[in-house]
Amino acid sequence: MAFILLFTTSCAQPTQQPEGKPTIKIGYLPITHAGVLYMDNHLYGGEFAEYNIELVKFSSWPDLMDALNTGRVEGASVLVELAMKAKVKGIDLKAVALGHKDGNVIISSKEIESTKDLIGKTFAIPHKYSTQNILLNKMLKKEGLNYEDVDVVEMPPAEMPAALSENRISGYIVAEPFGAMAVQLDKGKVLHQSDEIWPNSYCCVLVLRNDFIQSNQTATQSLVTQYVKTSEQAEHKDKDLFNSFDQYMKVEKEVLDLSLEWISFDGLRIEKDEYNKLRNSVIEMDLFENPPSFEEFVDNTYIDKAM
Ligand code: ZN
Repeated sequence: MAFILLFTTSCAQPTQQPEGKPTIKIGYLPITHAGVLYMDNHLYGGEFAEYNIELVKFSSWPDLMDALNTGRVEGASVLVELAMKAKVKGIDLKAVALGHKDGNVIISSKEIESTKDLIGKTFAIPHKYSTQNILLNKMLKKEGLNYEDVDVVEMPPAEMPAALSENRISGYIVAEPFGAMAVQLDKGKVLHQSDEIWPNSYCCVLVLRNDFIQSNQTATQSLVTQYVKTSEQAEHKDKDLFNSFDQYMKVEKEVLDLSLEWISFDGLRIEKDEYNKLRNSVIEMDLFENPPSFEEFVDNTYIDKAM
């Protein structure tokens, strides 16, 4: 079975329709975690009363962040820590909703029977600034181990299933569907589910540039209201959701089925307590200095009106 995801990098310029209805460009990586956006676009063709939406596919987080930071896209579905880091660097982003909850698994080779067996082994994460990295740290801590007990490497997500099958790494944690691929290929197994380590963990968020929000408040409200409505539908995980994925990700149905079992698309409001747990983990792991406060980073105005 091939586990190839087709990536293309797109560059796009912000667009204003002649009649003033904005086209909102939202960047994404083809991962299970952006499922609500796929469904939104698939069901409604990207055209709504107050705005049009255009999903712009990227092949890597740095490429996506570059487009977001320079205003080539108005928003993105992105790892929350990367967006927090951008905010620290002075890019005025606001998180308006979560992408999902849970939905990460720790994959290991079959010889690994417990977390302790990972001592001295190579373990892959997608990015230093990721919930996957925080989950790894929490898993090790739970077993009385230190982060330094494992040789942690950053690796592009699509490479991880092959690296595991070739014994270049002993395990990995990454956005889906790359965990499900290793299981489906019978090359790896689920060592832990993310909710065993950190229930309802935050991972991806829907962010918008604050300059866009401030000059397009009606469109922002409509976008978030529609997003919440679609997320409730997505949680049913019915054929509409599966058909939506077909349009945005080339992935085997069995892999997608498994990966959707692990993820939750409901309750996407960003809660202060949960955000602060995440923020404290960033500080505890010394990932970067002065992560933004809840008030600086999160704008729940729109989701509160939507719910
Ligand atoms: Zn995610």
